[in-house]
Amino acid sequence: LQKEQEANRIKDEFLAVVTHDLRNTIQGVMSYSQLLERKVIEPRLQILARGVVESARHMSNLTNDLHDLARMGMQAMRVEPQTCTLRTTVDTVLEEFAEFATQEKVELKEPEVDAQLTCRADPVRLRQVLSNLVSNAVKYNHEGGSVRVSASSVINGVRIVVEDTGIGIPPEAQANVFDLFTRASNHKRRDSSGLGLAISKQLVELHGGTLELRSTAGEGSIFTVFLPN
Ligand code: ADP
Repeated sequence: LQKEQEANRIKDEFLAVVTHDLRNTIQGVMSYSQLLERKVIEPRLQILARGVVESARHMSNLTNDLHDLARMGMQAMRVEPQTCTLRTTVDTVLEEFAEFATQEKVELKEPEVDAQLTCRADPVRLRQVLSNLVSNAVKYNHEGGSVRVSASSVINGVRIVVEDTGIGIPPEAQANVFDLFTRASNHKRRDSSGLGLAISKQLVELHGGTLELRSTAGEGSIFTVFLPN
């Protein structure tokens, strides 16, 4: 048994190192391709450069997620909670997805988050969780649909809600969407890996919180994060 544990530890460490190096390499590709996209003038070359940027961005998201997972596997992932002003985090995340939402013809509603509301969270990880949820809410939506983020203080903590008017999640898939590499069958998106929700749930749980889902297929989804004080 000890040998097995040792082998597992080596495997986890190996994965963490490999995904870390991959992530950094791909970030290099991303920076250079963005530079190229800005510098080239010829329209046909610009289209090619944009293609490289988009692929690099997709790879970069993927390797970030894989690196986080590898660190969770070796329990190297730590959260350092501090007092966060929720409105600031929410505004940053919504700004991050403004362009994507325009592309997808989805409206990001004005957030309902009191400017004074604070919570205890690791700011980088909280942003990562909300980015995943907002990104999904836009991605699995319809043209003309919308996304609303709200937050309120509840007993012993805060509740953050990300609500969309999108395709929803069929009942039989709801229990599994938080599992690794699991996607529902009601979409065919290529920019989908089935990693985001598994990571988000683990991150919220590392804070002692919960991540819950309510959804009606064809009508939309509501993801609720609870973070304790
Ligand atoms: P990804 O989006 O990369 O596939 P996630 O783990 O974030 O990975 O999501 C897993 C699956 O859950 C998605 O493939 C999709 O089927 C479903 N899903 C997640 N969020 C939503 C949402 N807001 N509306 C509808 N389906 C969703």
